[in-house]
Amino acid sequence: MKAMLLRGLAPLAQNPTPLSLEDIPEPTLGVGEVFIHVTRCGVCHTELDEIEGRTPPPRLPVILGHQVVGTIEEGKNKGQRVGVAWIASACGECDYCKSGQENLCPQFRATGRDVDGGYAETMKIRADFVHPIPDSLSDSEAAPLLCAGAIGYRSLRLSNLRDGQSLGLMGFGGSNHLVLKMAVHKYTRTQVYVFSRSESEREFALSLGATWAGAIDEVPPAELDSIIDTTPVWRPDLEALKRLKPGGRLVINAIRKQDTDQHILSTLDYPSQLWMEKEIKSVANVTRADVREFLSLAAEAGIKPEFQEYELKDANQALVEMKQGKIRGAKVLRVN
Ligand SMILES: [Zn+2]
Ligand SMILES: [Zn+2]
Repeated sequence: MKAMLLRGLAPLAQNPTPLSLEDIPEPTLGVGEVFIHVTRCGVCHTELDEIEGRTPPPRLPVILGHQVVGTIEEGKNKGQRVGVAWIASACGECDYCKSGQENLCPQFRATGRDVDGGYAETMKIRADFVHPIPDSLSDSEAAPLLCAGAIGYRSLRLSNLRDGQSLGLMGFGGSNHLVLKMAVHKYTRTQVYVFSRSESEREFALSLGATWAGAIDEVPPAELDSIIDTTPVWRPDLEALKRLKPGGRLVINAIRKQDTDQHILSTLDYPSQLWMEKEIKSVANVTRADVREFLSLAAEAGIKPEFQEYELKDANQALVEMKQGKIRGAKVLRVN
């Protein structure tokens, strides 16, 4: 089978072609696993964190990709169209798994990092960790929903937002543009304020129903109850904390932050940025319930991502463009 293999970790600026197209043997199926004939795989910012070593794969080479759509070719429910998300497995026995927090399981395994993912014609996965795709979504529409959408859904849930409260979105890429669509559907009285460094993303946000859109350090016309940050750096978080109401919550939806501007954290001003019970919460991984609840919400609300397609062999180009911030909606690899 053809696959894009990651063989070494380095900053993308040093090596802009970290993945190589190779012909490798198909994996062998283990007990309780299924083979998936992959048709589409979404490209996620987390792949950059893996390639550049912020969340390094435990072994190399590895096949990246955790927003996989395809058909079960062998194993349970053969012929079914399914998706695979970031959660490849969890132990099922620890306190976290038993309390609906399998995303925090110490044995959590991630697709496309701890096990091979979907930048390949075929992949294998445990049968109980695939998710049926609603008929109303095409393969390309479904792929970005599996990570950007599911983790966006988890972020929105963790933001504690209630209808009528004001929501801020820091950064407006693959995940937050879906959060905006969810918020507009679920919270009809809520106003959404979008912060982005890119003019075209700000226009995009307004076209999707944002009340206001401005630059990262611009002051919006209202204080915010919750803000979801998806940017890879720290300055937006300090700006976000200034924009929160008393009791407000900042949710950081990023698996890792780059250390380029970490020094700025030493300028944190406690009275204006944390005092008055403001809080900060990170979002870690997703549960299967997040993925499935979000897929049915997406089908019910007609939430579809904006996306751009690339051939599998052009995965490096998609990653470089993502790194450069050329993101309008999501990026999807056409595999089969
Ligand atoms: Zn992802
Ligand atoms: Zn567990």
